Order: sequence, then structure tokens, then C-alpha cells
Amino acid sequence: MTLTILNPATEEPIAELEQAGVEETDEAVGRAREAFPAWSAVAPGDRARLLRRLAALVEENLEELARIESRNVGKPISGARGEIGMVAQVFHFYAGAVDKHHGETIPVAGGVAATFREPLGVVGLIVPWNFPANIASWKLGPALACGNTIVLKPAELTPLSAIRLEELCLDAGIPEGVVNVLVGKGSVVGQRLIEHPDVAKIAFTGSTEVGRLVMQGAAGTIKRVTLELGGKSANVVFEDADLEKAAAAAPYSVFDNAGQDCCARSRILVQRSVYDRFLALLVEATRGVKVGDPALEDTEMGPLVSSAHRETVGSFVDRDPYFRGEAPDGPGFWFPCTLVEATNEDRVARDEVFGPVAAVIPFEDEADAIRVANDTPYGLSGSIWTRDGARALRVARATEAGVLSVNANTSVRVQTPFGGFKQSGFGRELGMHALEGYSEVKSVFISTEG
Ligand code: NDP
Repeated sequence: MTLTILNPATEEPIAELEQAGVEETDEAVGRAREAFPAWSAVAPGDRARLLRRLAALVEENLEELARIESRNVGKPISGARGEIGMVAQVFHFYAGAVDKHHGETIPVAGGVAATFREPLGVVGLIVPWNFPANIASWKLGPALACGNTIVLKPAELTPLSAIRLEELCLDAGIPEGVVNVLVGKGSVVGQRLIEHPDVAKIAFTGSTEVGRLVMQGAAGTIKRVTLELGGKSANVVFEDADLEKAAAAAPYSVFDNAGQDCCARSRILVQRSVYDRFLALLVEATRGVKVGDPALEDTEMGPLVSSAHRETVGSFVDRDPYFRGEAPDGPGFWFPCTLVEATNEDRVARDEVFGPVAAVIPFEDEADAIRVANDTPYGLSGSIWTRDGARALRVARATEAGVLSVNANTSVRVQTPFGGFKQSGFGRELGMHALEGYSEVKSVFISTEG
């Protein structure tokens, strides 16, 4: 079956691709399995060199990759360049990590035990459409560094950058069969990877709903699983915060990538004593977000990824919003920046919208802020805005989320662990922590008795 790939900003087809089915998935797993013994035996220094070469190739081809990503996802070109820059950084980081992730020697009665970090084998990577190359690299980097071989399934809507990354892996000298990209349906290719007896682990990013299916399917073969799922993160603004700074930053914490971000701070919690003033500042800042052609250098927000997704996002705005920004008319899956006053019980505050819609919710005091922030099944990220350092730390410790920022809205860095609490998933990506998810610890006892 042929798959037509659209540019979400124009609705024009940009590629036609053949879709893989179960048979092709089994063949790809077979290739990855065959490549595993040799790849896992590559000396750490040599594996590091190959990853470094891959990082350099991503840098050399940054503009091309960024344009692919911008046209396929509808991302503003400036943001796409930043994301591809991060892909290169991820490969550089894990090139440096290859020979620093090793075991220990533990003195025990009668001898000594040595631990080794063994690769898992064939790893299935299932990635979404919101940050296709970025999220693929967060999994590819540590998986390759640990000596695993890979079958990568990009989202049906956005497979183009993964296809190009596979070519760059080969150009870098990573042997054939180590990285295999399969374009196909989640319910076919993804499902087969989850159930395949020769796949040792699934690393998944996507909806909590499909995350549940991954867990269920993986149970049959006791597969290792890491899940990076949805979020409904809170941006908590206290009365003692720098309100101008918090308001200027808030739109970009929820409207970046047109809100299609698992870390989106889509609940803006504001202390009641400063609520009206903050809301006025927030409206002004939101009005300033430049929405339009993703190919233009100064565009800050593009369209949503698909027509179906625009329908879903629209269903969350079931009353007159407090503020609605501008968006282009005509072709493209456009949706304006939207601010809605809400309570934490409203659907817009409970479910992941994954679009440029923010719920603004008042709170009374610190205890109330923590209660509301935690009153969600999700626990991915969040922000705390206050000038009181002790309060910042108290609230950060009390917030049930994996990745928080104080007086800032950024959560994702190459060097630091990223992942969720509660129904936002488990396992950590990025930083040295990610290596734990792509290796098993083996303990070997060596007797020293004569
Ligand atoms: P999905 O969870 O359906 O898609 C994520 C990935 O999983 C895609 O590669 C998809 O493939 C694959 N997949 C889908 N069904 C299965 C299955 N049965 N078995 C194995 N793999 C499968 O996300 P959607 O694209 O449907 O988005 C829906 C909502 O999910 C969004 O509105 C948002 O709320 C949330 N989401 C969260 C993301 C995050 O970063 N945490 C990312 C994307 C979405 P295919 O594309 O072929 O269906």
C-alpha cells in the first residue's frame, strides 16, 4: 500500500512511500538480529568514532534535515534547525558516553564479582510525529552506544527525516542491518515489533492510550519497555514572581510546535491576587506570537500536523475563549493560539489537547497550587515562577512530575534525564540515565580460592 505524505502548511503531497507490513517487519528484525553479534562486539572506542561521524554528518546536512522536518511536520524552519542541532548533540553526547558506561568490581567472600553492561539485542523504537528526528535520536543514540541493533518505526504522518537518518547512519560507516527504518502503520508494524519474540525492548513515545497497548503486548515476551507518554503540565505563577517575564515566556511553553508537545505547560496556574494583571500580560504576549508560513525565518508557530488532529484540538474549545489569536486562512491545518479560562475539572484542563490551547486557572496559595498541579493523571513536566528560592524548591519537590523548571519553561537538555511520573510513563531518556534503559547488568563471580 502506498502512503501519501502531506505538507501540513499547504496540504500538498510531498512524498509517496511504500508501506511495510508484517512480512517486512519480520525481515527487518531478522537483519537487525543478524547484525547484532558483530555490532555488539565493536570495541567501545570504535563505536564512539562511528557515532561521532554520524553526529558530524547530521551537522553537515543540518539545513537539508531541517527543511525536511519543517515541510513534513509544519514546523517553523528556525525551530527545525534547533531540533536537528540537538540531534547532532545527542549523537556527540552518546559518542562520548560509550566508553564511560561500564561495570564495577565488588569484593565478596571467596572472590570478587565483576559487573558488565550488556546490550539487550534488537530494540524496537516507535516514535511520534511531533518531534520525529529529535525523539528518534534520543533513542538511537543510547541504543547504539550500548551495542544494540535497531528497528525504528516513525509515525505514518512524518517518516521523512527518519529515512534520511538511516542513510546518514550508513554513510557514517555504521554497518548495514544495525539501523533499519520501517515506514508503516502503528497497528501493523508497531504491533508486530511489540509482539516479536526476537525484539528485546520497545522504546515508545506517543499517546498514553497506545502506551497501554505497548505494555500489554510486551507482557507476552516479558519485553523491556520504556514509555514516554502524554502530559498536562502546569505552569505555576506565584504572586511574588517576575510577572512580566513569566507572562512573556508562557505562550512559548504551550504554543511552541503548535502545542504538539508532551511537555506543553497547557495549564497556566496563576495566584488569584495577581490573576487579572497576569492575564492581561499573557494576552499581550500571546498576541505577539508570529503564526504563519513555516518556511519564513521569523515564523514562531506553524499549522497542526493533520486535518484529523485539527478536529480533535477544536473539540476542546467548546465556549468563547478568553483570547483567540490570528491564523492564516486557506489551505493548511491552521489553528490560532487560544486562551481559555477554566477550572481544573474542565476537559480542557484534564485531557491532553496537543494543540495551541492553554487553560488559565486561578489558585489561592502554595498548598492549593500544589494540589491543583498534582490533580492530573499525568506527571511529565512543569514550571514554577517565584522569587522565593525556598518556595521554588518546596513546590518542585512536592510536584509529581519528572522534569521541572524554575523561572524558565525549558525541560529538555541532552545532558539531563527526561521522563515522566504517573501516567506520563516510565524510564528516562537523555543524559547518562538513558543508557540504563538499553543495557542489562550482568554480575560475574570469580573465585579467588586456590
Ligand atoms: P499515537 O500514540 O497513536 O502514535 C505514536 C506512535 O505509535 C506512532 O509511531 C504510531 O504509528 C504508533 N502506534 C499507533 N498505534 C500503535 C499500536 N497499536 N501499536 C504500536 N504502535 C502504534 O499518537 P497519535 O499520533 O495518534 O496522537 C494522538 C495523541 O497522542 C495526541 O493528540 C497526543 O495527545 C498524544 N501524543 C503524545 C506524544 C508525546 O510526545 N508524548 C506524541 C504524539 C502523540 P502510526 O503513526 O503509524 O499510527
